Amino acid sequence: MPIKSLLILLTLLLFTQNITAKEYKWSNKLTFLGFLKKHGIPQKVYYNMHKEDKELIQEIRAGQSYSINRKKGKIDTINIPVSDELMLQLKNSKKGYGYKYVEIPYQLIERTISIKMKHGFKKDLYKATKTWYYGKELEEVYSKSIPFHKMRKGDRIILFYTQRYRNNKPYTSPQIDACLIEIKGKPFYGFLMDNEKYYDSLGTQYKRTYTTRFIRPVPNMKRISSRFTHRRYHPIHKRYRPHLGIDYAARSGSRIVASSKGRVVYKGWKGGYGRTIEIQHANGLKTLYAHMRGYAKGVNRGTYVGQGKTIGYVGTSGKSTGPHLHFGLYKKGRAVNPARYVKKQSAKVVKIKGKAYQRLRKLVRHYRPQFQETKARKSSIIKKESSKCLNCFKKLPPRK
Ligand SMILES: [Zn+2]
Repeated sequence: MPIKSLLILLTLLLFTQNITAKEYKWSNKLTFLGFLKKHGIPQKVYYNMHKEDKELIQEIRAGQSYSINRKKGKIDTINIPVSDELMLQLKNSKKGYGYKYVEIPYQLIERTISIKMKHGFKKDLYKATKTWYYGKELEEVYSKSIPFHKMRKGDRIILFYTQRYRNNKPYTSPQIDACLIEIKGKPFYGFLMDNEKYYDSLGTQYKRTYTTRFIRPVPNMKRISSRFTHRRYHPIHKRYRPHLGIDYAARSGSRIVASSKGRVVYKGWKGGYGRTIEIQHANGLKTLYAHMRGYAKGVNRGTYVGQGKTIGYVGTSGKSTGPHLHFGLYKKGRAVNPARYVKKQSAKVVKIKGKAYQRLRKLVRHYRPQFQETKARKSSIIKKESSKCLNCFKKLPPRK
């Protein structure tokens, strides 16, 4: 019975090593200090943290799963995701607990969708993929530039996209890297650059349309003191310190206004963020306003506020170095760059030049033959290309 003996051997091996991994869920009301208490970890782990790291801890979402590895029954490491990219890692050693933010390992799967239009491109994409995501995304990115209404039966859409996986489950929205939309035989190409903007093959940018509009939340700001970044790597501290929002520096007491209309879903103290308000908007979008000095009268949990309505005043409550508003924007619970939504979109045509243009041309040359190849295939409903693992474990910069 070779399988049985193998199992016994495996169990023995695990038993002697005494390593166990267990998944937990971050419950709704759990605070970080509460979490430390729950697992018997000294509270000073939190108190000794750097200011910005304390702020980042507020990004741990309810329902988030985290894992604890134990060695001989004792906690060895704890991994808690704080964003799509990073997790907080607590490590127990003889010297006590240390912490750092590390990249979340993931698999990147590349796939292709190729469909011929039957009823309408959004409906057809939904039928093929069981999600409205692709149709909505194409509409948001291209409807200003591409005449979708002229699409006819038999016109084709090809998408190359990547999906991230963690523990064999997809996470974060898929990313459309390149697409071809054919309208009456005329091809329109789109290529994603720097994870954000789409260009045609000659470098003209496609202007997104946004269904929900946002305005700058501090009308009298002095300047932007910190921008949004998922993975800011600190060269001196040799660690990651992302900033999941925009900081608007302003005089203490300056008005903070609702960036878009919505319902106040949180009002109160939020750890490193200090006095905080959160507003739920349409389309799964939520804004967060932190470090406030005080709240505006009549603004409470459940209150509906219009765009531009004063909700509070700039301060420096929580972990903050000076009066400023930390402004966060979340799409279905995930931090996104507010600048993408708040920035005024200029009407003029943007064309990339120089090195960026060269990079775009490289992308075009990479995808062109793949488009041709996909087009040449007969079956046209959907094709899931051989999923390959591109980036199972991203290399981290060397530790100090
Ligand atoms: Zn901030």
